[in-house]
Amino acid sequence: MEYFKNLINGEWKDSKSGKYSENRNPADKEDLIGYFPSSTPEDVEEAVKAAKEAFKKWRLIPAPKRGDVLKIVGDIMLQKKDEIAFEMTREMGKVFAETKGDTQEGIDTAYYAASEGRRLFGLNAPSELPNKMNLSFRVPIGVGGIITPWNFPMAIPTWKIFPALVCGNTVVFKPAELTPKTANTFVKIVDQAMREVLGKDYIPGVINLIHGSGRVVGECFLANKDIDFISFTGSTEVGRRINEVGGRELKRVSLELGGKNAQIVMDDANLELALDAVLWGAFGTTGQRCTATSRLILHKNIHDKFLKMLTERVSKLKLGYGNNKGVDVGPCVSESQRETVNNYVQIGLKEDKATLIAGGDYAKDGELAKGWFYKPTIFKDVTPEMRIAKEEIFGPVLSVLKCSSLEEGVAILNNTVYGLSSSIFTNNVNDAFMAVRDIQAGITYINGATIGAEAHMPFGGVKATGNGHREGGWTVYDFYSEWKAVYIDYSGKLQRAQIDNY
Ligand code: NAP
Ligand code: MG
Repeated sequence: MEYFKNLINGEWKDSKSGKYSENRNPADKEDLIGYFPSSTPEDVEEAVKAAKEAFKKWRLIPAPKRGDVLKIVGDIMLQKKDEIAFEMTREMGKVFAETKGDTQEGIDTAYYAASEGRRLFGLNAPSELPNKMNLSFRVPIGVGGIITPWNFPMAIPTWKIFPALVCGNTVVFKPAELTPKTANTFVKIVDQAMREVLGKDYIPGVINLIHGSGRVVGECFLANKDIDFISFTGSTEVGRRINEVGGRELKRVSLELGGKNAQIVMDDANLELALDAVLWGAFGTTGQRCTATSRLILHKNIHDKFLKMLTERVSKLKLGYGNNKGVDVGPCVSESQRETVNNYVQIGLKEDKATLIAGGDYAKDGELAKGWFYKPTIFKDVTPEMRIAKEEIFGPVLSVLKCSSLEEGVAILNNTVYGLSSSIFTNNVNDAFMAVRDIQAGITYINGATIGAEAHMPFGGVKATGNGHREGGWTVYDFYSEWKAVYIDYSGKLQRAQIDNY
């Protein structure tokens, strides 16, 4: 059985703790993937030192060259796409088609970042004084602490690390303890590309990988004075903590947190399409996406008909190991995640008015007994004040609510502390545009499921979903760089702005 290592200063090393944690397949608990280091504060310290040292050189590598590294990263990922996806499914459970998509998102992000190496545009503005030039451009920040969850183990680290690197920063990366192998493969690829592109000028410590728990390794990131910025995706609870501590230390912090996403279906919608979307949105990735469709808001005129269509299709979803053909839904990522899901189902069952119409139990038949499977679950007659309508469940549970107008549907959709993704199915162009205007969310789909970010578009949410930053697209480059303003005075005299020109 393989014992994996951390990457510090260009060297693969054991943790100083000498301790390891197991990584197992959530579809088959007998399948042991490997042992990963339970790292210590000393390991973090060493990695941050290496990153700080590497920053001195990496920031001076021309940005297009830094982009060339990411081009090669994308090429290697493309070449290994199936292998990466297979191991990712084995590690966290979502089906092979989805882990391939997760990997492709990383590839897209690599190529986008590579091309950004030749842009990273600055802005110039005219000076208010003669014989003077004003420029502004981006400069790197320093060392970044990157903390990621397990549900998109490839895409999310790439969203953060690629723009960070192309801007000239160096990073220390702590992946979720549940998906260390994907992180290992990813960091190996980045390091390989660094070596290929930089050759004898290879800089150790530009990317460092520290396995371990959030409680130990993650907390050390917050405490470390040499970590200049933290990019975090995960729960709102941990995000709040990072923001508090980071705020005190004046660290720059980007947070992508929870969601309670909804899909509205109006009475003029294409119901077949809306049905495909809700199945994909609610039960894809076993409901463990931050963008998962957790609430379905049905117009009263199509409510009963649509639910009949939905329950029929849900009963046909095939559960199983995501690397097997024909499987639609994998397991929950862990036993404790499955318990969380089951607890919410018990909470739903206790509501007098809500009615369970599908699932509501562990799935334990035959092969399924080997893993953390849960039946795709639907509650109808849910009302906005119920906990299953308000709290993020992060599992295959869908709450169905009813509305009688667009305004009411949008109000129900907005009745949540979160604001990540959203969707409305309608063929009425006026309703569609009003929904775009009034829905409080970072992402709105018209006639599409709540999921699916394109790598070159801004991704993120409003309200308790984050702190205003976005991942992906051009906006992310503002998080990973500082603006520097430069004035060049070629008048040969002291020109005092605001004094000498008026
Ligand atoms: P989590 O518990 O917040 O964990 C996320 C990461 O933070 C993990 O690497 C975790 O380490 C680490 N961590 C835990 N405690 C920490 C601490 N005190 N200091 C620093 N780091 C710490 O979230 P999760 O339960 O794994 O993931 C599910 C959540 O992520 C959901 O709420 C979901 O909505 C959210 N999510 C959001 C997005 C988005 O883009 N908005 C995307 C995906 C997921 P461990 O390895 O020890 O767990
Ligand atoms: Mg956790």
